[in-house]
Amino acid sequence: MNTAMMALNSMGDTNFPICPKHDTFMVEYSFEPWEAILPQGTLDVFRCPNLDCSIVYVTGAAEGLYTLEPRCTLKPYSGSDHS
Ligand SMILES: [Zn+2]
Repeated sequence: MNTAMMALNSMGDTNFPICPKHDTFMVEYSFEPWEAILPQGTLDVFRCPNLDCSIVYVTGAAEGLYTLEPRCTLKPYSGSDHS
């Protein structure tokens, strides 16, 4: 149950989230307020280095994978995204 804390402690290490679509490490990213509406309690946001990839990873209260939808909304990533 301490995974969130452990992840925080190892930030800056190699413990970055991995994009499930591209199997590559995601990079820390700061969304501007007009780019995405972040869940309450969000600490850090990571996104895929592939710029056309809409998958983001959020840490904090609502930690998990999301996809960036039109109109700046983040939708929990389902894993079955056939676009
Ligand atoms: Zn990706």
